[in-house]
Amino acid sequence: MPIHESSKSSRAVHHVHGVCPLDCPDTCSWVVTVEDGKAVALQGNREHPYTRGALCAKVNHFLEHTARPDRLLYPMRRVGRKGEGRFARVSWDEAIGEIGTRWRTIIERDGPQAIWPYYGTGSLGMIQGLAGAGRRLWNVLGTSQHHPSICMTAGGHGTGYTLGDNRIGMDPEGLAQAALVIFWGANPLVTHHHIWKFVEAARRQGAHVVVIDPIRTRTADRADEHVPIRPGTDAALALGLLHVVVARGAEDGEFIEAHTLGWEQFRARILEYPPARVAEITGIPVARIEALGERLATTRPTAIRIGPGMQRNAGGGMAVRTITCIPGVTGDWRYPGGGAAYDTRSFFKGNWAALWRDDLRPPGTRVLAMTRLGEALLDQVDSPVQALCVYCANPAASTPDQAKVRRGLAREDLFTVVIEHFQTDTADYADVLLPATMQTEHTDLHHSYGHAYLGWNPPAVAPPGECLPNTEIFRRLARALGVTEPSVYDSDEDLARAVLDADELRVAGISLEALAERGWLRLGEPQPWAPLAKGFPSPSGRLEFYSERAATAGLDPLPSYTPPYEAATRDTDLGRRYPLALIAPAGPHFLNTEFSNLPALRDKAGPQQVWLHPDDAAHRGLGEGDVARVWNDRGEYLAAVHITERVPRGIAGGSKGHWPKLNPGGTNLAATVMERDSDMGRGAVYHDNRVEVERATMTREEFERVFAALGRDRI
Ligand code: SF4
Repeated sequence: MPIHESSKSSRAVHHVHGVCPLDCPDTCSWVVTVEDGKAVALQGNREHPYTRGALCAKVNHFLEHTARPDRLLYPMRRVGRKGEGRFARVSWDEAIGEIGTRWRTIIERDGPQAIWPYYGTGSLGMIQGLAGAGRRLWNVLGTSQHHPSICMTAGGHGTGYTLGDNRIGMDPEGLAQAALVIFWGANPLVTHHHIWKFVEAARRQGAHVVVIDPIRTRTADRADEHVPIRPGTDAALALGLLHVVVARGAEDGEFIEAHTLGWEQFRARILEYPPARVAEITGIPVARIEALGERLATTRPTAIRIGPGMQRNAGGGMAVRTITCIPGVTGDWRYPGGGAAYDTRSFFKGNWAALWRDDLRPPGTRVLAMTRLGEALLDQVDSPVQALCVYCANPAASTPDQAKVRRGLAREDLFTVVIEHFQTDTADYADVLLPATMQTEHTDLHHSYGHAYLGWNPPAVAPPGECLPNTEIFRRLARALGVTEPSVYDSDEDLARAVLDADELRVAGISLEALAERGWLRLGEPQPWAPLAKGFPSPSGRLEFYSERAATAGLDPLPSYTPPYEAATRDTDLGRRYPLALIAPAGPHFLNTEFSNLPALRDKAGPQQVWLHPDDAAHRGLGEGDVARVWNDRGEYLAAVHITERVPRGIAGGSKGHWPKLNPGGTNLAATVMERDSDMGRGAVYHDNRVEVERATMTREEFERVFAALGRDRI
């Protein structure tokens, strides 16, 4: 059976296994029902141990999304001003020819590093998305390298300093064996609900479930205990909990002796954080810190699921580093069901060198961090960026300092190509706008940041209009530029075979043929599994409480607590002017900015909200449904006030993902976020953000009318 037909076919109806490509740790395996060449149904794969037959409220609308009338179907050239969003249809030959000509001129005049391929998490695939798309072409051309710093890098580096690999941890499926489950800054019932069945399995055996989160989330409602914490103070809590463990003499001396490095120094650091000090920092009462510490000290195995939101702070990397040290003290890494899970992508031991071909890259090419887009476009004096190629990303909606990003994208001398499914805020700034295929229409291969399964996604249906896969667009661009390196023209199947060409995968029986057979394969050992019980992939082979690599990077070699940049205690004047700490978690309707333009989900989500504690709302004279202006020195956005005790006093909340162009006022939360790096990996600091909220001049009726009109006119 050909690879692209891994389906159970009948006459006119057949089923094709695929994978959800979105930025979610569940990486669901799905089954597309195709009737007469049309995708008519999409369901979670019942046989997949993680997906078990269910997708999610967002992706249940995926087929509807692919068939929307606002889908981009043809290449287009800008005819209006940048940002205006007026385009005229052109042929693929014209579009590719124009890009080739413009890029050749830029390369000859300014050098290839003046081109910045800018991509994000719109797809996490190895072939069409974040994990590999276009990389060979960018290497051959010698463009600037893109650092996808927007999401998980700070915590990844923190994990790496502790464990020796940025993307390793416990297998989240092991939560079923845990006696204590801690969701730390994670809200899985909204963002990755498939993990919950393992929690329920653990509960049936008597497990206790704790959620540590500034907001009382849907997951917190279902937990046994919710611990509300001040944003950005997680490392201090981790040290405080360990203080209780150590004070009780409950550390696992045998594990520490056999598998860790730097215990005595770390122990001294832990002793600097008694519960009373930690209570001051975190806002959690001493008794609760002691009770949770006691539980941690006495419950084996303990599993900690770390969410990415908590690392979007000044000390985010160090926070994740400190939390991943906890199972090193308690010895939980040695048990199935014990340890910490932040990212699991290193369960896949693929041949990345063969996929990416970084050997083709000229030495010394610069690296540009995606969260510093505004700075790179406006402030880069030496070798300024002259061309952007944006794919799987919507920076005009998501990147910090939105106003600056938009000023940068509006530069008349900047040549911008956007490869997209819909006319996003970013697409409005394109010089050339190219229509890309969606997941049911192209080939891709996926590993997961939340489980140990690999997934294969062949095309289920033909693309609509003239949409092309990203890979085919890059091959056409290479041809237009006269690239002679043959690997740049490899087919999608060649690319998949390249990354699967690894001894460890062969030994495990993982091949494209085996994947095509059922759509997914397990990586690593079957459950129950403790991936790090026998050692760690660090230079010392141990869990490194003390990290020489951190010291070399100019960081504290020991786990430590760094206050937020905008902590009111650090800058009292800032705290006075902007008394509310704003955090923006993922909501139930949008996935980043995906689906924000899908009427079914936009209508359910409604306009951007700002959540306020009743006291904070009353203090500002705001009532439920009033229109508020949320602002700081960097920018502002409009939001409907929602008064709720789910957020503590001093914190404002609101889910992310609204397209600015579909929100009254034309901006969103990212307008208030600072363009600054966290402590590690150049991560973003979305949740290290102080604002003030006041009544807007727009009335409630006007706000609702504009919201409805934007949906009518722009989707
Ligand atoms: S977004 Fe997550 S939960 Fe939803 S279908 Fe995709 S992988 Fe599954």
